[in-house]
Amino acid sequence: MKCPSCENELTQRKASGIQANICQNSCGGFWFHISQIRKLEHVKPGAGYDLLTVEIADGVKTYRDSVHPCPQCKTTLLYRHFFSRKYDTEVNQCAKCSGFWIDAGGLAKIVQLKNKEKKMRLEEYFTVIMDEKISGMNLASPDLAESAKMITQIFKFLKPEL
Ligand SMILES: [Zn+2]
Ligand SMILES: [Zn+2]
Repeated sequence: MKCPSCENELTQRKASGIQANICQNSCGGFWFHISQIRKLEHVKPGAGYDLLTVEIADGVKTYRDSVHPCPQCKTTLLYRHFFSRKYDTEVNQCAKCSGFWIDAGGLAKIVQLKNKEKKMRLEEYFTVIMDEKISGMNLASPDLAESAKMITQIFKFLKPEL
């Protein structure tokens, strides 16, 4: 499976029984199959923290103007729910197979910081993602409300303990 963003070959990794395909040593994005997302409600918050230790290469640009094809369906283009240049984070979903492509590069950088700054920056990051980005989706649409619920679960899965 190829990275939809930088075309690197994705690497399979598991955290607490949840499988992700990760763009290791390149852009650091994650692909989650919908079957893995459905398991998230039974998994402890923070159980996926380990996935954030992915090695990311400097200078690999993920926010390109071109659209990203789904790594699974290949021809279907991913729908972008939201992105933030400032927080180096992007959330896309495939309309066909419902899988998620997540770039959480900003979060991966924060977890490398020292204690006090890390705590502050993590709080800021999650406030922006939860209260602005996810809440800013069109939740009146049942499909988007369902996606928003899954995106919340993904970020809770990745969120480290403070
Ligand atoms: Zn990549
Ligand atoms: Zn797909």
